[in-house]
Amino acid sequence: MEQVLADFRDHVVPGLTHWNHPRFFGYFAITASGPGILGEMLAAALNVNAMVWRSSPAGTELEELTTDWLRQLLGLPEIFDGVINDTASSSTLYALAAARDAVWPEAHEDGLFAAQPGRVYASDQAHSSVEKAVLTLGLGRTGFRAIPSDAAFRMDVDALRRIVRSDIAQGIRPVAIVATLGTTSSASMDPIAEIADVARELGVWLHVDAAYGAPAAIVPETAALFRGWESADSIVVNPHKWLFTPIDCSVLYCSRPADLVRAFSIVPEYLRSSGDTSARNLMDYGVSLGRRFRALKLWFVLRYFGREGIVERLREHMRLAAELVSRAEEHQAWQVVAPVHFATVVLRFAPGWEAAREDEANQRIIERVNRSGEAFLTHTVLDGRTVIRVSIGNLKTAPSDVDRLWKALGAAAEAVAGDQAGR
Ligand code: PLP
Repeated sequence: MEQVLADFRDHVVPGLTHWNHPRFFGYFAITASGPGILGEMLAAALNVNAMVWRSSPAGTELEELTTDWLRQLLGLPEIFDGVINDTASSSTLYALAAARDAVWPEAHEDGLFAAQPGRVYASDQAHSSVEKAVLTLGLGRTGFRAIPSDAAFRMDVDALRRIVRSDIAQGIRPVAIVATLGTTSSASMDPIAEIADVARELGVWLHVDAAYGAPAAIVPETAALFRGWESADSIVVNPHKWLFTPIDCSVLYCSRPADLVRAFSIVPEYLRSSGDTSARNLMDYGVSLGRRFRALKLWFVLRYFGREGIVERLREHMRLAAELVSRAEEHQAWQVVAPVHFATVVLRFAPGWEAAREDEANQRIIERVNRSGEAFLTHTVLDGRTVIRVSIGNLKTAPSDVDRLWKALGAAAEAVAGDQAGR
């Protein structure tokens, strides 16, 4: 074991991208908190498999309990029933499978080839997992329609209404509308209340991807941004993103759990339970039969931090993000390119050069910062321009870390500008 640990330290650790580092600002920054790690370790030690209630009663019931606590923290009504999946990609896939089968009970029986074309709608800022789910569910590439977004990267609701109506007139069946609360590129918020009105008006399943943004619903100052999500049919929330829980832990809330169960429940003899059948069998809520005891780490996290502890830490991340925004705004050569609702800032070095040259400079700034080892950043493209994302989400990130990042960005920009001038 000593040799294994030495090899881990010497050969594995140097090859990692350290997601749990306070200056990891790429993708969406996350934290495997102490309580979460302890819960994960105990889950591995117990090694239970909550396929059905009797294969792990506490595994099943703790999942019901913790997802219900989280539901209360998020301010969602009791009608929402939660199950834990590995990722948001799986949660969205299962939600859209339930939507598909709710729209086409006949397709559930006879397969999709007997059905008319169907379509899922999400903004052009939606995560690729939505389109992937559409493909996996057999709706084809044309089964996904990207709705344009506005200048603040929010879904254009008039365009949504127009496009869905026109599809219905052409005999295409709307399967679901997916609204994103906290988009991947810029953490923008789709206008959920208005989208919910369209879904209700046209009788379409509403799925909300709040994989990243949801924890902000716990914070009183930002909770109002979520108003309207309570009328969704399904919502995905990832505690493994901005809620201090080690990967993997994604909660799928469904206000029509019977539809989810109808899409997935198959009970072979060897898994049939005798006696009381009122208990929930988690195998009925998705593709997987076997199920890790993910609820345990979420239980540890929620109990350890509590509502006030969570709010305090999320507020601090948002405060650090606001500080970075003020620094960038004070500096002429930097632009903040999207509204900052939470703790993800999208900015760009924009000294006024031609577009392609600025894009290349931003890419090279990221590469320089990453190569320096000072911090880790990732890029995206917004409105056709390369931009730098800074996601603050690690519990150990302190003001001094944001300070170091800002200095590293400044030094990289200066070096890149120098290189370009010397060409
Ligand atoms: N939805 C959003 C908004 C995301 O940002 C991401 C990942 O960053 C996902 C879904 C997919 O998450 P997962 O890796 O849990 O499948």
